[in-house]
Amino acid sequence: NTATSSSSATANKNEKLPPGVVLDKDGKPCRLCTSAASWRTMAKKASTASSSVAAGAVLASATPSSSSSSSSSSSTSNECPPDVEQLGRSTWTLLHSLTASYPTTASNEQQTDMRSFLGLFSKLYPCWVCADDFRSWMADPSGKNEPRLSSRAEFGQWMCEAHNAVNRKLGKKEFDCNFWEERWRTGWKD
Ligand code: FAD
Repeated sequence: NTATSSSSATANKNEKLPPGVVLDKDGKPCRLCTSAASWRTMAKKASTASSSVAAGAVLASATPSSSSSSSSSSSTSNECPPDVEQLGRSTWTLLHSLTASYPTTASNEQQTDMRSFLGLFSKLYPCWVCADDFRSWMADPSGKNEPRLSSRAEFGQWMCEAHNAVNRKLGKKEFDCNFWEERWRTGWKD
């Protein structure tokens, strides 16, 4: 899946770049907004038509750095920067784990801290198109998507709904939120 957004950030209009590649705000391809598959297609294209500026940028970041010394261990030398999916999986792990460790009943201060975190997170998430859409979802004019932070049960449910909103946007199956706690806190019953 490729990052999609209400903003027209994908590079489809740019004939030099393959579909699915999302541009950063500076006009260069955004790796953290693009799937590894689209990125590879672009890198291949770039290697055969290395005249464009974008291609240069892609090649520079898609090719393992020659400066990485031979001392780098073999276990890390194949590791690459994350694409939109890897970043997403890791981030959902963090976000759902935050709900799992949230107090059963949260104090005003704990609720304020989490509200601040979510506000900043939705501004700073490195896939900017994902962040824009997430922020818009939270700010739905009806108020129905405002973070619900009074307790672990409420917050866990809310995060599950937030994740499902992204699942829907990407055409993925929705998760049954009755089971968020088994998935992220207690583990499944045998
Ligand atoms: P993920 O969706 O990453 O889910 C990981 C695991 O969480 C699943 O295996 C499942 O066990 C569990 N799970 C799934 N749904 C739920 C749920 N509702 N509640 C609880 N647990 C659940 N990618 C894009 O291409 N475009 C976007 O615009 C975009 N926006 C994103 C916005 C945010 C805030 C985040 C954190 C990620 C976003 N992503 C986006 C990434 C995307 O959501 C996925 O992480 C990525 O596509 C990898 O998906 P996956 O199928 O491996 O599982």
